[in-house]
Amino acid sequence: MRKAGANCAGVVFVDKMIDKELLNILACPACKADVELKDNKIVCKKCGRRYPVREGIPVMLIDEAE
Ligand SMILES: [Zn+2]
Repeated sequence: MRKAGANCAGVVFVDKMIDKELLNILACPACKADVELKDNKIVCKKCGRRYPVREGIPVMLIDEAE
């Protein structure tokens, strides 16, 4: 049994769904604009870069963007 939450040091996002709250604190690393979730990718509303989500963790790296 795995317990959800932040009991394990360091790994906070693993059991967490990507929700609006998380999207609110994320920003595009390229242009700092707001992002939205689309087809399990984080999509920048301004430049349109798409960042992958791996195991529930958004990978907000310009090098990983499509
Ligand atoms: Zn952007």
